[in-house]
Amino acid sequence: MITIVCPCYNEGDVIETFVSRLIGALGSELSDFELVCINDGSTDNTLPKLLALKEGPLPLRIIDLSRRFGKEAALAAGLDHANGEAVIVIDADLQDPPELIPKLVATWREGNKVVVARRSDRSADTLMKRQLARAFYRLHNLISKPGIPLDVGDFRLLDREVVDVLCKLPERQRFMKGLFSWIGFEYAVVDYVREKRASGRTKFSWWRLWNLGLEGITSFSTAPLRVWTYVGFLISTVAFIYGGYIVVRTLAYGVDAPGYASLLTTVLFLGGVQLISLGVIGEYIGRIYMESKGRPIYVVRREL
Ligand code: UDP
Ligand code: MG
Repeated sequence: MITIVCPCYNEGDVIETFVSRLIGALGSELSDFELVCINDGSTDNTLPKLLALKEGPLPLRIIDLSRRFGKEAALAAGLDHANGEAVIVIDADLQDPPELIPKLVATWREGNKVVVARRSDRSADTLMKRQLARAFYRLHNLISKPGIPLDVGDFRLLDREVVDVLCKLPERQRFMKGLFSWIGFEYAVVDYVREKRASGRTKFSWWRLWNLGLEGITSFSTAPLRVWTYVGFLISTVAFIYGGYIVVRTLAYGVDAPGYASLLTTVLFLGGVQLISLGVIGEYIGRIYMESKGRPIYVVRREL
């Protein structure tokens, strides 16, 4: 059996279309699949619609979380509750076409432990989003090992063995795309064209995306912490050389009182640099603090 894991937050507009397209895509192999939907604290009619869909031909389990925990936590819940020999992670909004699933499964049956779906065409996303995503993954891959392949999202198939490794990872703040890479295993790639969201709007505001990006960087790299040592060395060296120059100049030409502008600029600049570095340290300390509390990643209200 294969489990399809689908996180849902306010997807009432699209969930029925999603399930019927899924059923169509699976065709005669339907009995090999189960669908696990995680209701991530939706405030619309997602839950009643999911309950109604339980009557349909596709076996459906609903993991109802006690509030909105975010997509990463919802995915963790889905992986924890999946029973299949393989797990497919898919979005509810039809941006990940269910028609690709038979191909993912076929590639898995050829012996690949991980099959990732790659967006060969992302023109459905705005230019700005594409550019920013590119820049983010470039930066991420520059400072963290292992890197995350470009143009792949969460849409993928994972073998049971891989899912077990993922579920055993103890961290609570989960940047799934990073964890998928971190655990290793060879992966096969299947290309697809990313469509527009079928209905409703994106659940990721710019602010949420920014925070997800911070999570991605801080979860997998300490470069932002360490870079300040080098910045400090650089600034100290420049300051030292400049200090020597001032001493020599004062000895040769005497004291020269003006310098208000350069002094203020230097003080303000260094103040800014120090605050930035403190902020970066704060990001990490905040994350240590959150991890140290040991709260669960998500809370299940009930399983339906
Ligand atoms: N999602 C979720 N919890 C959240 C945000 C999103 O479960 O807090 C789900 C959402 O219902 C969808 C998937 O994650 O199935 C991807 O979200 P979305 O399509 O809004 O993201 P985008 O495609 O715009 O990156
Ligand atoms: Mg989407």
